[in-house]
Amino acid sequence: MPAKPKPQAAGTTNITAPGKADPASGSASPERGGTENPAITAAIPSPPPAAARTAASEAAGDPIHPIAEAPAAPVEPVEETVPEPVDLPEAAGTTADSRVESGTAAVEAEMPPPPSQAEVPGENLPESPHAPEWSPPVAAEMPESRPEVGPQPAQQPHIQHRPALFVVHITPELAPVAKVGGLADVVFGLGRELEIRGNHVEIILPKYDCMRYDQIWGLQRTFDDLWVPWYGGAIHCSVYFGFVHGRKCFFIEPHSQDNFFNRGAVYGFHDDILRFAFFSRAAMEFLWKSGKHPDVIHCHDWQTALVPVYLYEIYQPMGMRHPRVCFTIHNFKHQGVTGAQVLHASGLNRPEYYFHYDRLRDNHNPHAINLMKGGIVYANFVTTVSPRYAMEAKDQGQAFGLEPTLHIHHMKYGGVVNGIDYDVWNPETDPHIPVHFNVDTIEGKYADKKALRDRLLLADNEKPIVSFVGRLDPQKGIELIRHALFYTLGQSGQFVLLGSSPDGAINGYFWGLKRQFNDNPDCHLEIGYNEELAHLVYAGSDMIVVPSRFEPCGLTQLIAMRYGTIPVVREIGGLADTVIDKDFSHRPLHERNGYVFRDYDERGLESALGRAIACYYQYPDHFRELMKNAMRYDYSWNHPGQDYLNIYDYIREK
Ligand code: ADP
Repeated sequence: MPAKPKPQAAGTTNITAPGKADPASGSASPERGGTENPAITAAIPSPPPAAARTAASEAAGDPIHPIAEAPAAPVEPVEETVPEPVDLPEAAGTTADSRVESGTAAVEAEMPPPPSQAEVPGENLPESPHAPEWSPPVAAEMPESRPEVGPQPAQQPHIQHRPALFVVHITPELAPVAKVGGLADVVFGLGRELEIRGNHVEIILPKYDCMRYDQIWGLQRTFDDLWVPWYGGAIHCSVYFGFVHGRKCFFIEPHSQDNFFNRGAVYGFHDDILRFAFFSRAAMEFLWKSGKHPDVIHCHDWQTALVPVYLYEIYQPMGMRHPRVCFTIHNFKHQGVTGAQVLHASGLNRPEYYFHYDRLRDNHNPHAINLMKGGIVYANFVTTVSPRYAMEAKDQGQAFGLEPTLHIHHMKYGGVVNGIDYDVWNPETDPHIPVHFNVDTIEGKYADKKALRDRLLLADNEKPIVSFVGRLDPQKGIELIRHALFYTLGQSGQFVLLGSSPDGAINGYFWGLKRQFNDNPDCHLEIGYNEELAHLVYAGSDMIVVPSRFEPCGLTQLIAMRYGTIPVVREIGGLADTVIDKDFSHRPLHERNGYVFRDYDERGLESALGRAIACYYQYPDHFRELMKNAMRYDYSWNHPGQDYLNIYDYIREK
């Protein structure tokens, strides 16, 4: 094979190439290997038919979708749906400070006093600060928790008739306009599902300069006189309204020298905690000033963890008594641990009160405030993104120090597996793949495999393509991703990587690998972020590896399955909840959809990836049945949407 340059694909962004590209030959010498497990030879019967949920079925009057989806094409917002600026309600006080003080006093009257005893974690703890308004559920009343029985192939959705809710998401990310990771996809997908089910959903996020403005329709300034209390004064903000693929979104733009959201990136700044503490306060101030009274405020991760604190300490005493808060933790690793400054800045003016162990004081550093802990303590319900991760966080030391807090608040804590947007990730309609296919026309996938090879200048041969898509973060198992590359090449496979890291050293390492394999016709590393290429990688690959150290939910394995690409995953977090091993499972054969390994080491990875590649070569019929099994699963927002509605109903009824 002649040496050929393999440039980065068009459209890949955030590429940091350390030094000059230096093509060097470095092809691994393929060795055949991998033994077949006798269990692989068992025939796999077909699963039951899927209940496909497409935009078409919704439009055709599927009874579960009472509200027609807004068009995805650019639209001018119709007058009735675009909120007009509204007159401001009379605030309890005239200045930011007076409101804060009155709010604080009111809460103090309702609050149990801090314990005078030594503050021993987990012992003699009073109720959470809003206990008078909120009593924890008893186990029998907990919202339905399907995932205990594991994922199920698609079935006809259960239709419930229930009153519509007004839900406001306060979020740092939203796909596709401001996406860093899966959180962005979750807010979009859940918001859409809630609307499909007849609820009114609005989304509030910062107005970043680096947003995909081409994905926002009808953007207009809708509220120009929002003064957000900050450091005893106030920062003037404008609020914009626009549609993001049908979702109703408000974008908050502060006008201050801090320049919080005009920095060319969503995260990565020394004052990130202050930036998002400000955003959370601004979102709450906007709800208050615009007279909105959502039934449920749903906030996400440490960035918006102060929302329930603000609600119960500042806004409820001022009169905002209606909303309840659901707080979703997408990743326990980042918690927003900081000093007292954030309290002074945001108007939580009594440090000694918030520095209490039962409120925001970090569990390990008595001099630090932990925003995520505050979110857990104050929210009416706390979810994380899979039941397995919920358990691992609470009971297996995966909560990065918040384990005792989760134990204290376990009655309002649970896990809901994320869904994926079945319109965005749909092999039957995906505009980013050349040939469409479904479970009955799965041959189309091989044309996409060919297209992926053409695009990445890979050799066209009989080999399976094993891919990785994701952030190159230590969480994702950097060492095992690297090992998967070498092992795949050694097992006569092709390997494709699409990923990037904000960490220069990690990025540099993968750029080194890219140069090493530049001339290898069976390997391509695409270092950067490329949404459109990701679609082709999912569609054109045979397998995807997700060897994470920990994985709250993981979307890549769900997306891959939608495209008939077999996941090879570590048995942790949401990966364990969604992937059923083909050979080692008690589940019926038709419910098995991938390969799983337990130990975070090279042998562990090989034990699963080796079986997958061996099956591909030696039992192609079985491999194809496995692909169909994976495609028949329903990992749309259908089930999680219902789970969240159960939680919303539950916290509303309390
Ligand atoms: P996390 O939220 O931890 O980053 P998830 O698996 O939950 O991981 O979600 C990752 C999402 O981001 C998926 O939609 C995946 O396709 C996308 N993604 C990650 N890295 C890239 C990349 N380099 N190019 C395109 N899409 C990416």
